[in-house]
Amino acid sequence: MKRLETTCGYCGCGCGIYVNVADDGTLLGITPSYNHVVSQGKLCSKGWHGFGFVRDSRRLNNPLIRMADGSFREVSWEEAYDKVVEGFKAAMTGGDNTETIGMLSSARCTNEENFLMAKFARAALKTSSIDHCARL
Ligand code: SF4
Repeated sequence: MKRLETTCGYCGCGCGIYVNVADDGTLLGITPSYNHVVSQGKLCSKGWHGFGFVRDSRRLNNPLIRMADGSFREVSWEEAYDKVVEGFKAAMTGGDNTETIGMLSSARCTNEENFLMAKFARAALKTSSIDHCARL
């Protein structure tokens, strides 16, 4: 078994956790990090038990592209990335893309991930239309 130290992504508190993974990659459970500066060995119920989504049969495992008739077609990651690049290029109108590109980040990301999302939006995509699921 491997114990991977990381940050709980369920809320902005950022509690320290270990993700316990079997040798075959199966997620076994979550345990708290007793030395973590924020959580000090404590987790709420979401932190302890909220990992069932990882094995949920409804979870997407491959990229999908929406077809003209509204159905979805499973595609490779390469085809999906090409489609994303194509869409961004079409939406980038010039120096300021605030009116054509918007990004949604997530309260389930770490502060660092949300910081990177904001940087990517402003510096690479040149949009200030960025929001967060806590306001939706
Ligand atoms: S364990 Fe609970 S309080 Fe801590 S980050 Fe996760 S959801 Fe938030």
